[in-house]
Amino acid sequence: MAAEKKYIIALDAGTTSIRAMLYDLQSAKFVFTAQQETEQRFPKSGWVEQDASEIWFKAQYVLSRCAAAAGRGNVVGIGIANQRETVVLWDRATGEPVAPAIVWQCRRTSEYCAAIPDEMREKIAQKTGLPVDAYFSASKIRWLLDNVPQARDLLAAGKLCAGTVDSFLIFKLTGKFRTDHTNASRTMLFNIHTLGWDEELLRYFGIPLEILPEALPSTACMGETDLGGRKVPVAGVAGDQQAALFGQACLNEGDGKITYGTGLFLLFNTGGKAVRSKSGLITTVGYSIGKKTVYALEGSAFNAGSCIQWLRDGLGLLASSSESEMLALSVPDSGGVSFVPAFTGLGAPHWNSDARGLLAGITRGTTKAHLVRAVLESIAYSARELCDCMQRDSGIGLREIRCDGGASANNFLMQFQADLLKIAVNRPAERESTALGAALLCAIALGLVSEEEVFSLRRAERVFAPAENGQAEEGYRAYCTAVRRALL
Ligand code: ADP
Repeated sequence: MAAEKKYIIALDAGTTSIRAMLYDLQSAKFVFTAQQETEQRFPKSGWVEQDASEIWFKAQYVLSRCAAAAGRGNVVGIGIANQRETVVLWDRATGEPVAPAIVWQCRRTSEYCAAIPDEMREKIAQKTGLPVDAYFSASKIRWLLDNVPQARDLLAAGKLCAGTVDSFLIFKLTGKFRTDHTNASRTMLFNIHTLGWDEELLRYFGIPLEILPEALPSTACMGETDLGGRKVPVAGVAGDQQAALFGQACLNEGDGKITYGTGLFLLFNTGGKAVRSKSGLITTVGYSIGKKTVYALEGSAFNAGSCIQWLRDGLGLLASSSESEMLALSVPDSGGVSFVPAFTGLGAPHWNSDARGLLAGITRGTTKAHLVRAVLESIAYSARELCDCMQRDSGIGLREIRCDGGASANNFLMQFQADLLKIAVNRPAERESTALGAALLCAIALGLVSEEEVFSLRRAERVFAPAENGQAEEGYRAYCTAVRRALL
């Protein structure tokens, strides 16, 4: 490749895999990807762990593949997007993890969290924007301190580091103990209004400030790493969903994106205001550039694309996920069938972990196509519930939704979503929004791209304009009735 080429590597450390993608600044495109699966372990019911050493080992491998593809000296920076909330504890002197990483999905601290008194819950919500839950990092760090003797020894010796996956990778790459504001805002220890670790919460959870990383803006330069014998800055860091928000150029108040992956994640830019939700949504740092902080409301549904997987692998109704589109379009409606995708309970605004899935309105005339259509429609309905909460809580109207994730490839689903929300659904040409967000944050950190230019770097592949669709509204009412039944 030509010597003057400038590339950024976006390191996307996900839950099931770690990827490095090479972003070409001239063509504004990804030109190379290296990916490695990372193993998850389930040592007990509800427990989920990962080996942080494996994450680091595979990160080095994918980075070196990208560096080789770029050619010597052509990589100008490395940005990071990562699975959020997952906790790693390591030895500051050796960089070695002292225990398996506790993954965000792990429920081992549910009981501990359930015992947190109401008064403290209120303080936590005010300061961190989060409802108390085992999902967030604080109780996971507490558990490790209580259960790993080596962690206690290192703590006593002043040599313990605790952090999320970004901070572990930054430490390994640069030797600096740092994180960014978006990742810090998922720990339940970080005051999102003052952008600092909160002394009162640290005291409550018994977590000393010294074991936590320095929290910096998402566009900070975290340090330098050696890549093929040259020093390269590690700059531009955000949690995966926040990186996707940025990659989708949701930079104005009222801009929102939905990721239709295994689950569904809606993030909505609320500008400089940290909006407190009345519907159980999460308030989080969207991103921070220098002194500017942008907040977001976040809502998620646990099951979205997984419902299509269930149709394909569980019921054997589909040969492939994409076949669902053709089947849904082969019938004019779902034939009165409603589906509630509550395989593992219902998230915001219901927060009921005991609810289970429901199929309602089946008749002798119900066909496979009706069922598939009902399942696809249910994904759009759960997104509508979240959008309604967002708009109610924030008082800000959504102008359009930007979509990404595997199931956003489904044209039926995207059109139905637009009709139901009565706003356009905008699908980008580059659907790797998470990696793109990390690459763009890095480009901004290095002064190669301005915040304004991010808008022009996003290209729409297709915009689904809302059409008059009375059926969608009627179906939504039937869905809401079915949800009430699922909650009984
Ligand atoms: P994740 O990153 O959460 O693993 P992806 O963004 O890769 O997920 O999306 C994968 C999901 O998208 C799968 O659950 C799959 O069933 C679903 N999916 C992929 N293509 C389609 C399609 N054309 N229609 C509906 N769902 C799809």
